[in-house]
Amino acid sequence: SLAAADMAHTLHPNTNLRAHEENGPLVIARGEGIRVWDDRGKEYIEGLAGLWSVGAGFSQKRLAEAAYAQMLKLPYYHTFTSKANEPSIRLAETLAEITPEPLTRAFFTSSGSEANDTIVKMVWYRNNALGRPAKKTFLARNKAYHGITVASGSLTGLPVNHRDFDLPAIPVRHLTCPHFYRFGAAGEDEAAFTRRLLAELEAVIAEEGADTIAAFIGEPLMAAGGVMPPPAGYWEGVERICRANDILLVADEVICGFGRLGTPFGCQKYGFTPDIMTLSKQITSSYMPLAAVMISDHVYGPIADNSARVGVFGHGFTASGHPVATAVALENLAIMREEDWTGNAARLEAPFQAGLRAFADHPLVGEARGDGLIGALELVADKATKRPFETPGAMGRLASAIGHDEGLIFRAIGDQLALCPPMIVTDDDVAEIMTRMGRTLERLT
Ligand code: PLP
Repeated sequence: SLAAADMAHTLHPNTNLRAHEENGPLVIARGEGIRVWDDRGKEYIEGLAGLWSVGAGFSQKRLAEAAYAQMLKLPYYHTFTSKANEPSIRLAETLAEITPEPLTRAFFTSSGSEANDTIVKMVWYRNNALGRPAKKTFLARNKAYHGITVASGSLTGLPVNHRDFDLPAIPVRHLTCPHFYRFGAAGEDEAAFTRRLLAELEAVIAEEGADTIAAFIGEPLMAAGGVMPPPAGYWEGVERICRANDILLVADEVICGFGRLGTPFGCQKYGFTPDIMTLSKQITSSYMPLAAVMISDHVYGPIADNSARVGVFGHGFTASGHPVATAVALENLAIMREEDWTGNAARLEAPFQAGLRAFADHPLVGEARGDGLIGALELVADKATKRPFETPGAMGRLASAIGHDEGLIFRAIGDQLALCPPMIVTDDDVAEIMTRMGRTLERLT
């Protein structure tokens, strides 16, 4: 059977491999709108849009047609040594138009991890070009997710992605996760929490020396680590401190970008302007693998100068600017504009977030949180003390299994249940998601 073949021959990412040998896969066979069906014909609402990424839903024919048309015309060409192709040029132009003001240029990769690795190398290359080879350390946050390659995995701040992989392997300092519910101190209000985090940032810069710190990278809203919106004033403060110390600010918008929070990009929701931005996932609604690094002229200048000095910017991938992936992205962004996904997220934010917060009274829910069309329920053993369960993740796994039974796929991040539905959801869809989540929680108690 298909399941037996999978159990025998696939090594699954992010999976307990021995448990998989016993339990086998959930084989998803087809999709339509916000729903998918498994190979036994059972229907699920995809409450996480795949991996936070299928904005268009699972049956957008225009994306298939864009890929097919481009494959017939020019299925592949590379972008090394000044070669170019029309879809990748048009996409770079479009991204420069729609991203915040200082960002003017795109470098394409196939994944968010490769994009963040590219950022690390670009920033190092730039600082070498500027004659400050000691300015190399990255600042990131505990519980951040920036990918899993050697450099991007080092920026990630999750123990499971570091332990036994010998990461971090690049110079990086992880700061306190800006999640007030979990990391606010006893007696501290949100404003005092923000002040403490900003003081920590200043102290780390003073301790390391600003001349050794290259960049600060952060997801506007931390997603894969547990859906944690920042406290008020946090990003304005981070931006101010970075500017004062000549530290580049990198917004990893792999999940928050393209309208997820009800603004075109996440940085606009929280009021800061990055020098560099990482984009992926919803750029093609994940119909094709694609990511982009957006940079400002300020970042670009020294890199371009150095490429002239050494003869080449010696970095790039076979699939950088792939014409089929970029053609699909262009069509996806056209649909995003026509259907106003950003406006839809802004409009549905109220019912979606209210639906989640209605579960806050449930005996197992410690916090219901989120912004825009992304949210999470954090399950705890004791609401009053916020005490987690004795076996972390077990309750999340149970909830996930019951959710499947109830026809709702969400992501259990430990004991945090994350939702991030396709951008095409309607009021009725949001109501149905909350109904299925409610039934899941009822059966959990
Ligand atoms: N950055 C963020 C914010 C992400 O959420 C992810 C993936 O979830 C990545 C980077 C890594 O992207 P990829 O899995 O395409 O390498």
